[in-house]
Amino acid sequence: MEERFDAIIVGGGLAGLGAAYTLASEGLEVLLLERGDYAGAKNVTGGRIYLNPVRDMYPDLWKKAPLERFIAHEEVAIMAKERSLTLRYSGEELRTEPYQSYSILRAKFDRWFAKQVERKGAMIVTKSKVDDLIFENGKVAGVKAGEDELYADVVIACDGVLSLLAEKAGLRKPGNPKDYAVGVKEVIELEAAVIEERFGLSEGEGVARLFMGEVTKGMFGGGFLYTNKDSISLGLVVSIKELMENKDRIELPVMFEEFKNRPEIAPLIKGGQTAEYSAHVIPEGGYKALTKLYGDGILVAGDAAGFSMNIGVTVRGMEYALASGYYAAKAVIKAKEKGDFSAKTLAVYEEMLKNSFVMQDFINFKEAPHVLENPRFFTYYPELVTSIMRDLYAVPAGPKERLYPTVKKYLGFKQLWAMAGDMRKVMKI
Ligand SMILES: Cc1cc2nc3c(=O)[nH]c(=O)nc-3n(C[C@H](O)[C@H](O)[C@H](O)COP(=O)(O)OP(=O)(O)OC[C@H]3O[C@@H](n4cnc5c(N)ncnc54)[C@H](O)[C@@H]3O)c2cc1C
Repeated sequence: MEERFDAIIVGGGLAGLGAAYTLASEGLEVLLLERGDYAGAKNVTGGRIYLNPVRDMYPDLWKKAPLERFIAHEEVAIMAKERSLTLRYSGEELRTEPYQSYSILRAKFDRWFAKQVERKGAMIVTKSKVDDLIFENGKVAGVKAGEDELYADVVIACDGVLSLLAEKAGLRKPGNPKDYAVGVKEVIELEAAVIEERFGLSEGEGVARLFMGEVTKGMFGGGFLYTNKDSISLGLVVSIKELMENKDRIELPVMFEEFKNRPEIAPLIKGGQTAEYSAHVIPEGGYKALTKLYGDGILVAGDAAGFSMNIGVTVRGMEYALASGYYAAKAVIKAKEKGDFSAKTLAVYEEMLKNSFVMQDFINFKEAPHVLENPRFFTYYPELVTSIMRDLYAVPAGPKERLYPTVKKYLGFKQLWAMAGDMRKVMKI
């Protein structure tokens, strides 16, 4: 077939669906091509989505959206080899509507979102893999998908991390392992009542627990656990560069099994049925690794542009995908008004992102990837903190040591000096 559209969007993840929804709402002729059997079939996330930054961009969406549990408790688990310390933060604001964040299952959510996009009038074709871009007079004019050549005023590349289209358009250089992590994730089914009992939750409440330390064998990364309605999403994410360089050649699936067998995890998932096992690459290079965002007849959004960020306490990509898809659509609407889809006009996309939380977050946290790759965060500090806890709680057969010397013996001049060095770097984020 040879057809013409206002916009062709490649990829039916949150960036692509967000862009299609926004464009179709304004009456543009939109075609979205997704290689999976359905939108969401190939999408992997942790996942927890923060709604505040994107609530107003998609005002009609959230009331009926199939989200899982609102996150009422934030937890961090510091994992040493044989010990751990888990902190739970519960705040009134987390339990008050509109809730800040929700756990989410993408296979369910994206499929539902795709229906809303179609209702707005966009055409979605699944099982359709885009192989190449079509150029006319040096400008992107469409895409090739198998035998089909499809034409549009503009193509929005939302084809996820390692974007083929951004590379074909010359907007992205081949990936550098230091800018990417790889994650494995299992969705484990358990009854809602069991989840609520095991995690101390009231009905509907959810918990997000991030793990740092020994679980990644000293490599930059961490674990995550999110409670869904009747399942748990459990996963582990590790820097690809560090995984390639690790001397013990330990592989991620092995690390993940060890993680699941830890005494802190095993009882939480006991009796559960594995419903899903997946692995996926994550862009984690931050601001410095973002692609060029626009060219003649093309825009790049979501993971394809590198919009995903791990700053230790939060892992975020979904709302950057939704927001960049939204702004890409707004830029296309402006270009259509002008009747000009050149890079010069489409540059308004970058301007919009710069004026939004998206680029401001990436600029504010531009040092995060560099600061957080410090191996001491994953080995030394977890051992230190949990050793202090062990000694504070210990009651020996003989007399107990005073509390101050118990702690002080771990914090000599050398240790404090090294900590001050780490702290100086942490102050950059
Ligand atoms: C293990 C893990 C944990 C994460 N945890 C979180 C979290 O808790 N919170 C959070 O906010 N973010 C998290 N993220 C990041 C988040 O999932 C991503 O940032 C987000 O999904 C990006 O959305 P996207 O639409 O840009 O890309 P994707 O969701 O990857 O969508 C890209 C789509 O393009 C399609 N596609 C690709 N190539 C082609 C082609 N050639 N032709 C047609 N279709 C194509 C794919 O099939 C896919 O559907 C996590 C990621 C991982 C991997």
